[in-house]
Amino acid sequence: MLEVAAALEKVLAETRSKSPRTVPLSDALGLVLAEDVASDVDSPPHDKALMDGYALRAADVGEGAVELNVLEQVVAGCTPTRKVVPGAATRIMTGAPIPDGADAVVMIEQTEPADGASQAGATEVPTRVRINAPRPQAGQNIMPRAASMRQGEVVLTAGRLLRPMEIGLLAEVGRAEVQVVPRPDVAALSTGNELVPCDALPGKGQIRNSNGPMLRAMIARAGGQAVDLGIGRDDEEELRRLVALGLQHDVLVLSGGVSAGVLDLVPRVLASQGVEQVFHKVHLKPGKPLWFGVGRGQGHDTLVFGLPGNPVSSLVCFELFVRPAIAALAGDRDGPQMQSATLAAAHRQRGDRPTYWPGRRATEAGSTKVTPLNWQGSADLRTLVDADCLIYFPPGEKDFPAGTTVQIRPL
Ligand code: AMP
Ligand code: MG
Repeated sequence: MLEVAAALEKVLAETRSKSPRTVPLSDALGLVLAEDVASDVDSPPHDKALMDGYALRAADVGEGAVELNVLEQVVAGCTPTRKVVPGAATRIMTGAPIPDGADAVVMIEQTEPADGASQAGATEVPTRVRINAPRPQAGQNIMPRAASMRQGEVVLTAGRLLRPMEIGLLAEVGRAEVQVVPRPDVAALSTGNELVPCDALPGKGQIRNSNGPMLRAMIARAGGQAVDLGIGRDDEEELRRLVALGLQHDVLVLSGGVSAGVLDLVPRVLASQGVEQVFHKVHLKPGKPLWFGVGRGQGHDTLVFGLPGNPVSSLVCFELFVRPAIAALAGDRDGPQMQSATLAAAHRQRGDRPTYWPGRRATEAGSTKVTPLNWQGSADLRTLVDADCLIYFPPGEKDFPAGTTVQIRPL
């Protein structure tokens, strides 16, 4: 049976990032940039004031207080009209261009009007100002033109995940539209005769389709666009019809019907629809029956995952295999990673399969401690709401005392 790492390698070997598409900047958050982006402007576009105050010649101010003639006032968005000559200053507001002749800005709090005008009024500009700051440095409170970036300079390269900071920078360099790797479409189909939708009261022998909403939520959180194919009966004809719909998307995720039961029809139905099996079964707990294959369509392939129906098996298989595939389709080949943590309580591992056990993290003195939860197995989704990670335990009967270093996968 395939090990988890080998199975994931097979999945990623079939996964190519989607073709880039141009989208409005407002739709780009969370996507991966698919082009190098150069600035079309110098930033700042001029030597600019970083404080409200007075632009002056640093050499004019000595040890003590001096008085200077005020030439004019320049606010952000305006251009200075006068050169600052010896003995003069221009009242300036944050963001405004520094006038010729000036080489420093003294903040307004270190000045006072020397003609009786009020300090605060924007309209009332004093004719003379008293500078109370001894020995200003040349360049102080001035950001030189292009200090942040030059016109033509590449500021973001392809492959970058677009967070709010990148969105802001793209706006600064004039990119109202940007080339990105689009979100993959991921169809979700729950199979099982026993399933009823979550807004129905289950009858005798029935349960609600908890996997459907859970998988669609996981798809959305993984960066995919979820497509709901609802519930399919354990009936070859019905499943064939629904699988055909699913194969129109980048990924088809099915839950249920991949084990050894008499009504586990999914592998057979997928084969009949031309989906090539890559593997069936992984050395893993929970989630051993996982099925993976590829539908080779015209123009695009569909990655097909048959997840075991038990909700926690579905969740674990999604985390370990589907989520990295969605990330890779969306241009992120690094995907989610394992992290180190210390067991906060002892754990007894049983069984011959590598196990991903629900756990809860806490930070103590800067290090991550993790407590294995009292979990009842793959049908026990209830306990998962207390979990924020999966703890990896290697196969075999073994006691892991508190303090053991383990690998975890944050959920
Ligand atoms: P299966 O993989 O189809 O053999 O299903 C394994 C177990 O998971 C059975 O107890 C099913 O009733 C349960 N199950 C299957 N599909 C779902 C689902 N969509 N939501 C909740 N439980 C499910
Ligand atoms: Mg079933």
